[in-house]
Amino acid sequence: MRATVFAYDPSEPVEARVDRLSAALEGLDGLTLVQTLLLGRFAGRIALVSSFGAESAVLLDLVARVDPATPVLFLDTQKLFPETLAYRDTLIDRLGLTEVRSLQPDPHDIQRHDPDDSLWSYEPDLCCHIRKTEPLAMALEQFDGWITGRKRFHGGKRGALPTIELDGATNKIKVNPLAPWTPDDIQRYLAERDLPTHPLVKDGFLSIGCVPCTRPVKPGESPRAGRWAWLDKTECGIHGEGI
Ligand code: SF4
Repeated sequence: MRATVFAYDPSEPVEARVDRLSAALEGLDGLTLVQTLLLGRFAGRIALVSSFGAESAVLLDLVARVDPATPVLFLDTQKLFPETLAYRDTLIDRLGLTEVRSLQPDPHDIQRHDPDDSLWSYEPDLCCHIRKTEPLAMALEQFDGWITGRKRFHGGKRGALPTIELDGATNKIKVNPLAPWTPDDIQRYLAERDLPTHPLVKDGFLSIGCVPCTRPVKPGESPRAGRWAWLDKTECGIHGEGI
């Protein structure tokens, strides 16, 4: 396996580490970038955060090819489609992932804020906070950084997504290996690797979150148009104020 060597000193300020990583990783193809992250001095200090959604198989496969024991953090909000949970299990088996951690919300938070399971309908930001942001923040405490599957072609603020960034919410390094990938790149990789697709993709779900907050997209709409479609809300908050 080929991996670019770069200096990484965890005692350096995080801004300096982001600059160092950007210089070392920017422009690498997806697999080489993932190899460099997981096999280099960042090894053991970074986790993949995956929704096991419409395009997640690509990054999960890249990571599994390098190290199937990489920690994978999955936010089980308890409001997901059953198809997503089944797809998670399918990909775990298929890719041999050994360290998928399904993160659930704190039952005390649910009891306090969402006792009748309807918080999403009147305070969705708080619902996302207790079901996604808080569990992820706790799980990330033991890591220096995280890897995401976001891409520029998803539009909105993601159109300017860098490959390496400093996450404002967690103050940790965030790496987006698929940022420059196009829809064709995704489809080509899925076909070349013969990866199973999420069962809801065939029904028009191109970005898949929780049941009450996701609808299929219409032809010509952006992949994320079906998320919180009735609201002026485009992100769940795990990526802070940004993207
Ligand atoms: S996406 Fe909807 S149901 Fe899921 S955590 Fe956010 S507001 Fe709640």
